[in-house]
Amino acid sequence: MRFEAEVGKSKLVLLKGDITAEETEAIVNSANPELTPGGVVSGAIHRRGWPRVTEEAVRIRRERGRLKTGEAVITTGGNLPAKWVIHTVGPVWHGGTKGEPELLAKAYRACLELAKERGIKTIAFPSISTGVYGYPVEKAAEVALRTVKEFLEGNPGALEEVRFVLFSEADFTAYREAWERIAGEG
Ligand code: ADP
Repeated sequence: MRFEAEVGKSKLVLLKGDITAEETEAIVNSANPELTPGGVVSGAIHRRGWPRVTEEAVRIRRERGRLKTGEAVITTGGNLPAKWVIHTVGPVWHGGTKGEPELLAKAYRACLELAKERGIKTIAFPSISTGVYGYPVEKAAEVALRTVKEFLEGNPGALEEVRFVLFSEADFTAYREAWERIAGEG
């Protein structure tokens, strides 16, 4: 399952797959504030990137303390195919009235800014916050895609390709349908 669209000078790709296998320059980890291998995506990324991803995450945690929601940091990709891992913390879903959409957009933007700063041209995101953190996938997909679209339009050529690597067919469909709604807005 794969879908592609042009956004400004960049390519947006939606696909069903496993983010730890992605060969983009950077992959994004849906991390926890402690940067420990806790969650589902995070566990898989730390396992496949072992030991250097975890070692660097521990060092960053020690030097700068816990990550706030919406912040992002970068480590090596260790043994992963990707050269870099960008770790960000998405919001826990509390029903949508605790600033969740703004915080989720902030997390995506922080990753995109970090990639731009480092000259990274291709990046793959998982569906941040829609697993253990409970954010409804249809709502999260809209925030994620709108944030990426705005970034790519506002920073032409900064990134060549942004991918969303969705773990299930249902998630892929949710992102695909959200894109149709957003693209239609012009
Ligand atoms: P969060 O704490 O941000 O909710 P999770 O790790 O629980 O993060 O999961 C976020 C999303 O990523 C979920 O939809 C989950 O099914 C999906 N996911 C889990 N493992 C992988 C993987 N290896 N590649 C891509 N997506 C994954």
